[in-house]
Formats: sequence, C-alpha cells, structure tokens
Amino acid sequence: MKVTTGNQLSGRTELEADVCIVGSGAGGGVLAWQLTQAGHKVVMLEAGSHHTTQDFAPLDERLAYPALYQERMTRATKDAAISVLQGRSVGGTTTVNWTTCFRTPERILEHWQQNFGVELGEMLPHYEAVEQRLGVAEWPVQAANANNLTLWKGCKALGWQVKALRRNVRGCVSSGYCGLGCAFGAKQGMLLTTLPDAVNAGMELYADCRVLKVERSGEQWEVHGQIQSKKDLSPTGAEVRVRAKRVVLAAGAIGSPGILLRSEINPNDAVGKRTFLHPVVAVAGRYAQDINGWSGAPQAVGSHEFVDRGEQVGFFLEVPPMQPMLVASGVMGAGAMVNDFMVQLPKLSTHLALMVDGLHPGAAGGTVELLGNGRPKLDYPIGPALVEAMAAAHKAMARCHLAAGAEQVFTLHPTPVSIQNEDQLDRLDAAAYGALEHSIFSAHQMGGCGMSGEAKSGVVDANHRVKGQDGLYVVDGSVLPTSLGVNPSQTIYSLAHRAAGLLAAEL
Ligand SMILES: Cc1cc2nc3c(=O)[nH]c(=O)nc-3n(C[C@H](O)[C@H](O)[C@H](O)COP(=O)(O)OP(=O)(O)OC[C@H]3O[C@@H](n4cnc5c(N)ncnc54)[C@H](O)[C@@H]3O)c2cc1C
Ligand code: SF4
Repeated sequence: MKVTTGNQLSGRTELEADVCIVGSGAGGGVLAWQLTQAGHKVVMLEAGSHHTTQDFAPLDERLAYPALYQERMTRATKDAAISVLQGRSVGGTTTVNWTTCFRTPERILEHWQQNFGVELGEMLPHYEAVEQRLGVAEWPVQAANANNLTLWKGCKALGWQVKALRRNVRGCVSSGYCGLGCAFGAKQGMLLTTLPDAVNAGMELYADCRVLKVERSGEQWEVHGQIQSKKDLSPTGAEVRVRAKRVVLAAGAIGSPGILLRSEINPNDAVGKRTFLHPVVAVAGRYAQDINGWSGAPQAVGSHEFVDRGEQVGFFLEVPPMQPMLVASGVMGAGAMVNDFMVQLPKLSTHLALMVDGLHPGAAGGTVELLGNGRPKLDYPIGPALVEAMAAAHKAMARCHLAAGAEQVFTLHPTPVSIQNEDQLDRLDAAAYGALEHSIFSAHQMGGCGMSGEAKSGVVDANHRVKGQDGLYVVDGSVLPTSLGVNPSQTIYSLAHRAAGLLAAEL
C-alpha cells in the first residue's frame, strides 16, 4: 500500500480533495473504502506511523507498545486512575485490537432513540457489508485457549450465560499477539482491508501527520496537519494543508473532540463531554494446570449475564491476552510483589469485567479537555454507581474462577485480596473499590462528540454532521451517545458504512 510518510516531506504540502478524512481507524478506514469506491477523491491524514505486517514479526512488547499506542502506551485519565489503551498508527486501534466483533445491541439502539432522538434506521445491510469485507465469523469454543476456557467453564458451572465470540480474522494461527499488530497477516483490521482498497482506488494517505485544527475557508474547509518525527513525535517543521469540500474527523474518542476544541468549534458546549469508557476491572485465578494465556486467540468467549442490572451499572465478562508486560502493568505494586505475581504467570488466568457506563440515571461519563500544550486529556470521575458495579464485578469474577477450578483467586488491589473457596468471598466486602483503589483499564473509548436528534444537544446529528458547521462531520467512536455493553469496533465500522452513503449524497 502506498503511504506518504513524514520523512518524505519538508516545507508545506498543499492538497485538494472532495473529502479529507482525519484518522485511519475503524471509522476513517471504512468511510474511505466506501467513498473511494463511489469515485470520490479522498485525502487521509493519520497522526501515527505506517507499520507493515513484517514490522510486527519480532512479537516484542517493548517495541510494539510505544510504536502502536497513544502516548507510547502511557495514556491515562487525568487522575491516573484508569489506563487508557488506544491505538496510534495507520489502521488506528484496529491494528492492535483483539478482533472481537458484535453488532450493536438492540436495547442500546432503542435507548439512543428514546433518550437522544437518534434514529439510525435499518442497520442490517451495514452490519452485513462490513462482516463480509472483514471476514467476521464465530471463533469456535473448541479453538479457545485455556484462559478463555476458565471463563467458559466457570459460567457454565454457575448456570450463567456465556457465548463464543465472533472475530474479524482470515487464516488466524491463534498466536495470541493481536495487541502487538498481527505478524501473520490474519487480522482483518483497516491496515490490510479497507485502507489498501481505498489507496488502490486513488486515496492519498499521509502518515505521521497530526491534525492541529480545521477552519472554514470560503466554500471549503482547510485542514492543518503537522508532520511529526516517527521516533519522538516532535514536529519536523513540515506541514500539510488540505482544502476540501467536506472534512470528516475520524480521530477517535479523545482525538476528535481534541481537534474540535483546538478549532474552537463547540456546538451546544457539548464537545468532549459525555465521553464513556467501558472501565475494566480484572481478577486473576491461579490454576493447577498450565494456562499460558499469552498464546491463543485473545478473546474467544464472553458472558453478558450481568450486562443489564436495571438502574445499576451493568458489566460484561471477557478475558484479555496475557503477554508479560501487559500483565505486569496491571499489577498495582512494585518489586517483590510484582515478581511474586509474575512467576505464577503460566498458571494464571484473568477475567475482565467491562462496566457499561452511560445508561444509568445521572450518568455523565468523562470530559475531554485541552492541556496547555493543546493535547487532549480525559477527566473520568468514578462515581458511586460505578464503584458499586466494580465491587459486584469483583465478586462475580471470583466466583467464576472458583467454579472453574481455580486454586487461588487474586484481585489487583495494592494488597491483593486472596480467596481460595466460596466461604472466603466475603473478604471482598472489606475491600475498597474505585479510583486508585485497584487497577482499572479501558480499551474502549466512546462519546465526546455525541449524536443527538435534538438541535439543542449533542455535537453531531444522526447523519454525523457537526451542528452548525456545514461540510464538517465526525465518523468514529466519539459519536456514540453512551457506551455499548459490547466491544465497539463493529458498531463503528457499521456506522461508518452507513455514513458513507449519507455523505456521498451530499457531495
Ligand atoms: C488493546 C485493544 C484491544 C481492543 N480489542 C477490541 C476488540 O476485540 N473488539 C472491539 O470491538 N474493539 C476492540 N478495541 C477497541 C476498538 O478497536 C476501537 O473502539 C475502535 O478501533 C475505535 O475506532 P475509531 O475510529 O473511533 O478510532 P481509532 O480506531 O482509534 O482511530 C483513530 C485514529 O485517529 C488518529 N488520530 C488521532 N488524533 C489525530 C490527529 N490529531 N490527527 C490525525 N490523526 C489522529 C489515531 O492515531 C488513530 O489512528 C480494542 C482496543 C484496544 C486498545
Ligand atoms: S491471534 Fe490471529 S489475528 Fe491475532 S495476531 Fe495471532 S494470527 Fe493475528
């Protein structure tokens, strides 16, 4: 795939396009594919660098995380309570994601319709189109690794709902290294699917190009891109200016609100507000048998037993891949304590509970603000409703591990709560939950440029148009009015597929 990289540019490069897309991830990738197929001239600017399948071959966490993640994998919320995992390379977060695919739950679409006036219409054709292009298919439970099977067995033993997951892969060899980019060319992320399609159809793709702002210039928009060094992200002095009839921000939740705020565009004073994560808490279990959770398709099964808890915050259960650096970064401690944990790694299985934030009464989520240097930062208070759900989720995961045969269960508190049988579960009641009490992560960022059918709320309308800004759109995870209760990539792919038709009709 032909990509213009930052080191090929100096001075100012001036470009013209029908559509300029900012960001090459789930939203930008699918949109570019569809717009170029319809014959439109597209320029795409991506802040991250271009890496190929060969670049991922070392399977080395020390190389992959700084190269492929936002802020070299150190992104966190303002109070540092939540580690925010988010991609930053050509292909966006789809280059490093774990490939789980879900259609948007009907109850979420109904919630958006009832509470935000968002009418999306028939989504089935959009789900089907992306499923076909990205090879989405069920990963059989028989192929699940031991880490996933503890979740499966525990749920089955307790009579809880649990299902095989669907993944966007073709020819997956089950390496388990999805989070480092796929070295086997199997993951059907944007890097190997929609972006090459779009480039082959004439799209110009610029990597290492961070968009600072967009501004109206007569009948067109002008996009200001700054070239950054691949090595340390410092500005090289080169810049890219794109003049286009239409500009689409697809820089992800956190990225797209950041660009709007820098551009001083803030409809309804809503930009950056109502950003929702699926805040994740984890509980580990030690088993007699080898688990070797770094190997095998990362996510193969999931449970939605607790996703709908009425007015309380729901959560769903999955497992992560267990590469050593990733696991060690989740242990809230230092020195001997981390060592004690890590020497058990081959026998450890980890369950995750992802909090479905945004649906309960009074849910406000987080806020993206700009720091003095113009970089976006997410402030994400963890209120009592989330604390209650985190406590409930710890107990559910501990029960699940015990039911699956774990010898010992540990929480990720600074002093882990340790449990060996059901009678000890009440030890969890004495523990503290919430910000800075235990490890919390998030790989799912949503909202911040929320959709609303009402003129006086939200940032974009149901057709992705930024309110009051003719020709400016947002097509990425930031438009979701709430979190989803399922992994978000396929919702974003499908919304982008739908948006392409709407946008093309306006060109
Ligand atoms: C480790 C991990 C595992 C995951 N696993 C799954 C999974 O199994 N299933 C699932 O459904 N979801 C998963 N996700 C989440 C999913 O991949 C994302 O929700 C989805 O890719 C978000 O799409 P997006 O278009 O909003 O943004 P992204 O895919 O993040 O793309 C945004 C792009 O915009 C670029 N950008 C940002 N700012 C600028 C700027 N100023 N100028 C130019 N470019 C900019 C970024 O570098 C990035 O490449 C995972 C995420 C992570 C981190
Ligand atoms: S598990 Fe499959 S999709 Fe993931 S990195 Fe390995 S081969 Fe690629």
